[in-house]
Parts: sequence; C-alpha cells; structure tokens
Amino acid sequence: MLFLKKLAELWEPIGSIENNKVQCKVCSHYCIISPGKRGFCNSRENIDGKLYTLNYGSCISHGSTDPIEKKPLYHFYPGSNAFSIATVGCSFRCKHCQNWNIGPSAYPDKDGIVAKIFKKDENYAQPFKLTQMMPDEVVTRAKKANCKSIAYTYNEPTIWFEFIKDTALKAKEKDIKNILVTNGYSSRESNEEYIKFIDAANIDFKAFNDSFYDKIVGVPSMQPVLDTSEFMKKKGVHVEITNLIIPKENDDLHEIRSMVKWIIKHLGADTPLHFSAYHPSYRLKNPRTPPKILKDAWKLAKEEGLQYVFMGNFLSDEGGSTVCPQCNTNIIERIGYHTINRNLTIENKCGQCGFKIPIIGKFSQEKRSFLF
Ligand code: SF4
Repeated sequence: MLFLKKLAELWEPIGSIENNKVQCKVCSHYCIISPGKRGFCNSRENIDGKLYTLNYGSCISHGSTDPIEKKPLYHFYPGSNAFSIATVGCSFRCKHCQNWNIGPSAYPDKDGIVAKIFKKDENYAQPFKLTQMMPDEVVTRAKKANCKSIAYTYNEPTIWFEFIKDTALKAKEKDIKNILVTNGYSSRESNEEYIKFIDAANIDFKAFNDSFYDKIVGVPSMQPVLDTSEFMKKKGVHVEITNLIIPKENDDLHEIRSMVKWIIKHLGADTPLHFSAYHPSYRLKNPRTPPKILKDAWKLAKEEGLQYVFMGNFLSDEGGSTVCPQCNTNIIERIGYHTINRNLTIENKCGQCGFKIPIIGKFSQEKRSFLF
C-alpha cells in the first residue's frame, strides 16, 4: 500500500494554537501556511495544523538512465550513468523554464496521483497520471540499470525532501551515490540534512544579481543560492555550477566576471563551471544565445583563473573537454555525451605531467544509447 500524503519534516506550528498555522522550513521561502492551504511550491499542504508532503513517491515516470554528463556533472564519476527521477512542482517561477510542465506550472492533486497544470497554462498541457514508486523500488531499479548514482533532477528536487532523504539513505546502503540538480534555494535546515546523504550537486546560478531573480525567477534574492553552494562545498559535497546565458537578460560580461570571481573566492578555482546556451521556452521569447557570447564568457572565466570551464547546449569543438591546468593536455574529451579518457591516470592525475585533477570517483565507459 502506498502512502503518498505523508507527514512532512522540517516544519513547526507558528502563531497561536487556534489559528493552526505552520511554517515550512524546507526551502528559503519559509512559507507560513494556513489550514487547507499549500506553500509556494504547491506540493506541501497544511491539513488541520500539520504539514503534509503530497508527492511522496509520486514520480513523473519509472526513471531513466542518463549520462552523468547530462546533469551536467563532469568531475564526478565521469563516464558513468545516473538513474534520474523527478516529481512535479517547483520553488521558482522561471519565465524561461524548459521543464515548465513538470515544474512551475505543475502540482500534485490532493492524493499525489495526478499532476495538474495551473489554469492559465491549460492551453499547453493536460493533467497526467503520476507513477508511484517507493524508495526501495527506485534503488532496485538504479542497481539493475547499473547506475553509479541516483539523480534527483528535472524539476526542483528540494520540494521532495522527505522522499529524497528516504531514497538516498537506502541508496547509500547499496553503495549508490546521490545527486541533486538544484536551483540552490534550499534552506539552511534542509542543507544540514542534505550533506548527510547527498554526494554531489549541480547548482544553477540563474544570473548574478537579485533583480534578475526578482523579475525572471520570482524570488527576491539569490543569496540563499550562494549560501547553499558555499555550505555544501565546505561540507564535502562535490559542487559544480551551471549558468544559462540569456541574451539581453544576464549576458553582461562585467556581471559574469563578478560571478566567476565569487566562485573562485568562495568555492575554489577548481570548481567546474558550465556555461549553457538558452533557447526560447515557456514565457520568455528572447533570441537564442549567440555562440560568441558563450565563448566570450568561457574565455573570460579562464582568464580570471577558473580551471575547469565548459560550454554546453550547442555544438562546438572547444569547451567540452577537461584540460590539465598545468600542461594543457586534453585529459577527458567529450563529444556530446560520448566521453573518452585521453590522459587520466587511475589516480585521477594528468598522464603527462602528474597534476592531480580534482575528480571524484573513477572514470568508466558505460554504454550510452545516444550521443547528444
Ligand atoms: S518547500 Fe519551500 S515553497 Fe514549498 S512549502 Fe516549503 S518553504 Fe514553501
């Protein structure tokens, strides 16, 4: 029997006993929720003065096997596969969301069985049935698919806190790693928990200013994202950063330089940074990112001293490989999701000069059914 509506963690009653209000502490919205209402993410509801998560075990599918480079994580078990699962809902309202029909526009019905779409988006998508999987099944499927890790991805995973925690702890017992692909808006309280069972995170820097977050993302400040990145890195989680560059919105090179400097100072010069190309999606219709902007950002980041900078979402001969910062040898070459070990030793050193490359886990050459 499935128990999809589950008493949540990380909340407390707030105000008077009579008003039955609760405060959720899973993400940095810190929603105060009245009885019968849901939080900003629409997946957690106050029922008679207690907070419930509505999508425990409610997944968009039975999961899929993805190259870990698709997350993107380039320096965490390179060449391996990640078993990817997702639910519906999000803590952001990005106008350019590329997964809007499972993210900002979607929410679980009262039983967590059907995903509904907000009324104003009815023209775009119909409600759809969610797939029920409990943590044991996720781990069994990941093992059977020979995946080194489970990735909580596609929609914002933080709002699925309880299910991720239960699944990740079971995965750890089977020596399967756990990955968050996240907007970083998780709270200090949930981050204190995540560091106990999350091994790696790709954190999305949507821009490097609060006004973009306010206007495009729907939250007042990016400070919680910076705090999450710094905290996870300090606590030993492998962190990589993604930055999607949108023409006319966040493509100012001065701002990108400030972001790169922040990463070097707070996360370290060996932190992988992925610049990614935007294409029009959902409610934002700006033109695609010209390759020149991406390349300028890539060059700038390397000039500033960031050692592992990549470009994604467009075809290019450069910006996909891990190159030795000391002798410039090509260490790992990537063509789409095809990953080739050119010069990485079994100790994760440069095969030419012996420089230690900060890669977690061993390189493997798992079968991939597609290159891009
Ligand atoms: S997870 Fe975040 S958005 Fe959802 S109810 Fe909790 S504080 Fe609000």
